[in-house]
Amino acid sequence: MTEQNDGIVSGTRKRIAMVAHDNEKKALLEWAKRYREILAGHILYATGTTGSLLEQELGVGVNKFQSGPLGGDLQIGALIAEGAIDLLIFLWDPLEPHPHDPDVKALLRIAAVWNVPVACNAASADYMITSPLLTSEYQRTIPNYDGYKDRFKKL
Ligand code: PGA
Repeated sequence: MTEQNDGIVSGTRKRIAMVAHDNEKKALLEWAKRYREILAGHILYATGTTGSLLEQELGVGVNKFQSGPLGGDLQIGALIAEGAIDLLIFLWDPLEPHPHDPDVKALLRIAAVWNVPVACNAASADYMITSPLLTSEYQRTIPNYDGYKDRFKKL
């Protein structure tokens, strides 16, 4: 899996997905308020409750999915697998277990599979949102999974 292909090119408006666990919602809202102008220039996605709170706080439209525990994390994961998300800001709670912990792991795993940048706390999100790559075209390399997909071709 060392070979790379041409990857996925994202434009100057990035598709940004955001998820915050309940104990992290305040931190995400405070973070998002600081970067409201920047965020407003991109296409925003979020799990249900996080998305509603962001819309209220920022006054910008957010494409909302189910609440996380009801499948929202997995819906975002599915978009990642389709190449339809460029960045993930996922403030997951490091101190408390959740009923949807398997979904949290699934979302983080699928983001790693497709080389999607993930920020897991406000400081990493600071770096991400102020990167010059945010407002330029960016070619995200995708690992070559052909070998994996073809593994049963020669039975
Ligand atoms: P929520 O989901 O935004 O609907 O609260 C987040 C989560 O817990 O995954």
